[in-house]
Amino acid sequence: MKRTVKDLVGLKGKVILLRADFNVPIDDGGKILDTTRIERTLPTIKYLIEQKAKVVILSHLGRPKGFEIRKSLFPVAMVLMSKLPCNVDFCNAVVGDEVKNRIKYLKEGNVLLLENTRFYKGEEKCDMDFARQMAELGDIFVNDAFGTAHRKNASTFALARSLPNAIGLLMQNEIDNLSYVIKEPKRPFVAILGGAKVDTKIKIINKFLEIADTIIIGGAMAYTFLLAKGEMVGMSLVQDDCLEIAREILEKAEEAGKKILLPIDHVGVSTSDRKKAVTKVKVLKGDLMGYDIGEETIKLFKKEIDSASQIFWNGPMGMFEDPKFANGTKKIAEAVAHSQAYSIVGGGDTISAVNASGFASQMDFISTGGGASMEFLENGTLPCIEVIQEQIR
Ligand code: ADP
Ligand code: MG
Repeated sequence: MKRTVKDLVGLKGKVILLRADFNVPIDDGGKILDTTRIERTLPTIKYLIEQKAKVVILSHLGRPKGFEIRKSLFPVAMVLMSKLPCNVDFCNAVVGDEVKNRIKYLKEGNVLLLENTRFYKGEEKCDMDFARQMAELGDIFVNDAFGTAHRKNASTFALARSLPNAIGLLMQNEIDNLSYVIKEPKRPFVAILGGAKVDTKIKIINKFLEIADTIIIGGAMAYTFLLAKGEMVGMSLVQDDCLEIAREILEKAEEAGKKILLPIDHVGVSTSDRKKAVTKVKVLKGDLMGYDIGEETIKLFKKEIDSASQIFWNGPMGMFEDPKFANGTKKIAEAVAHSQAYSIVGGGDTISAVNASGFASQMDFISTGGGASMEFLENGTLPCIEVIQEQIR
C-alpha cells in the first residue's frame, strides 16, 4: 500500500507540492469544456486546506511547444476559485524567484496554482535539474495526477524522488477501483472497447482475454478486427499494422472459449457522395465508410451488457462528436447505466461522450485516465505510483 495524503501528519504550515491532472479540454476562447478532472481533485485539495497546509498545485495542459498563452492554466485557476472556500492565486511560472516569493507570502489553508509544467523543456524529459528546482519550493510532494501517471515526467516522477511523498485521494480511489477489476472481477465480466487508438489499445485486449468473459468491440477499432476476419469494411478506418495481432487475438479467443462481439451492421457515408447522406448497411462495401454501429449491433451488444455483473468500458462506439454518429455510443451508455453490473468507464473521449449522453451519474466509477487506466489494468501499477513511498504500518 502506498502512503496517502491521510497518512501524513503535521501538515499545518507545510508547503505541499500537489501534482494534479488539470489537462482539461479548453476552447479557443479559454472556456473549459469539461471540468471533471478538476472536480475529482477537489477532495485532496480540500483535505490539505483543512489541515492548514500551504497548497501549491502543479499540472500540465495539452502539448504546448514552449510558452503558449492558449495552453495557460489560468482558466483552471478561475474554476478553482469558484469551487474552493479559500483564496486561489495564480503564478505564471513553475520555478524561479517569483514563484519562491509568492510561496513565501502564501497563507496557511490557501492555494497557489502554478503555470503549465510543459512550458518547460525539462518536464517531458524527466529532467532531474528541473525536478530539483521544483523540489526547492516545497516540503512534501503529493501526486494526485492519475491520468498522467503512466508517463515519467519531471513533475510526476523525478519530483517524487526529490521529496518525501504520498499519493492523493483521487489516485487512491483510481487504484482501488481499477485493482478491483483485475483482482476480483464479478462474472460475467464484459469489456467494451472502441475508439480510434487501435495501436495503443490492442495490446490490452490480451489482458481482457485473461480476465473478462466477453469482449465487445465497436468504434473504429472494430474495422481492423472485421477486416482481419475477412469481412468487407469499405473505406473505414483500419490500422493495417495491427491486422496480424487482431487475427491472433481472434484465434486466442476461440481457443479460450471467450466471446468477441463485433458489429453486424453500420451507419456510414459514401466517400464519393458530396452530400454525405447517412446510410445504414449490414456490409460496408465499396467506398462506404463506417462511422457508427447500427441498430442490430446495439441490440446484440445490449443483450450482453444486460446480463453482465461487471463492465469495463473504454472507447466510443462511433464518431460521436458528430450528432449523426452519436447514437451507438449513446445507446451503449444507456445500456451500461441501466444494467445491474458494476460499471467502470475510462478514456478522455469516452468520458466526454458519456457526460454528453446524460448517463454519467449512473456509472459506478468513472476513471480520469485513458492510457493510464489501460496501462494500470495491464500491469497492476504505473511508474509514477511505484515511485511513491510505501505506507509504514
Ligand atoms: P478515449 O479518448 O476514450 O480513450 P480514443 O481516443 O481511442 O478514445 O477514441 C476516440 C475517437 O475515436 C473519437 O474522436 C471518435 O470520433 C473516434 N471514432 C470512434 N469510432 C470511429 C469511427 N467509426 N470512425 C472514425 N473515428 C471514430
Ligand atoms: Mg482520446
